[in-house]
Amino acid sequence: MTTASLAPARAAVLERIAQAAHAAQRDPASVHLLAVSKTFSAADVAEQYALGQRSFGENYVQELVEKHAALIEHPDLEWHFIGPLQRNKTRLVAERAHWVHTIDRLVIAERLSEQRPAALPPLQVCVQINVSGEASKSGVEPAAALELAHAVARLPRLQLRGLMAIPEPTPDHARLATQFAALPALLKKLNAAGLQLDTLSMGMSADLELAIAHGATVVRVGTALFGARPAKMTA
Ligand SMILES: *Cc1c(COP(=O)(O)O)cnc(C)c1O
Repeated sequence: MTTASLAPARAAVLERIAQAAHAAQRDPASVHLLAVSKTFSAADVAEQYALGQRSFGENYVQELVEKHAALIEHPDLEWHFIGPLQRNKTRLVAERAHWVHTIDRLVIAERLSEQRPAALPPLQVCVQINVSGEASKSGVEPAAALELAHAVARLPRLQLRGLMAIPEPTPDHARLATQFAALPALLKKLNAAGLQLDTLSMGMSADLELAIAHGATVVRVGTALFGARPAKMTA
């Protein structure tokens, strides 16, 4: 795709964010747009960069490694890892990413902290919460979030910023709203317990308005920015 062809989609997404923020009586600048570039090429990322986009989300470690290398000449480009992370892949992420949204086990956080290069700022992280209760979903149960968050917050090379969730895909608006509402409620509870969290990573192409209405500070948008993804890749 060319920059010209990506520009209208980007403008439309920014307009949706502005409208949703306005409807929720929030400052549009309080909602950060993360462009989810999984399955798209480094050239596509470069085109979004030319349009002003600076932060990109990747689900697969191999893609992060490749695109990070391809775009190394842009030091202000920020990489967010938003996929499931296996323990044998943590070093590759610790050496490249600015953020990891998907901390769901202490061992992963410990490895990221140990492996974070001293020359880089602390890795910004979110704890992923299973808000849908689906057994197949990754993320920690809400009841276990406080203990995990406290442990992660103590790790020297990580900075715990907030919570992330992927609600179950459902056409049931009320059900989705309940799942989105669970995240700010939990954030409030954690902050009342002494943590200082400012980030709610939730909302994707189909539901970013609802997520913003519930306080999302980062929306993770792929399809609406880049177009339909090619057939699903394996990690
Ligand atoms: C793919 C993905 C997104 C983006 O989804 P779209 O529907 O394409 O906007 C957001 N978050 C995560 C964790 C994803 O894996």
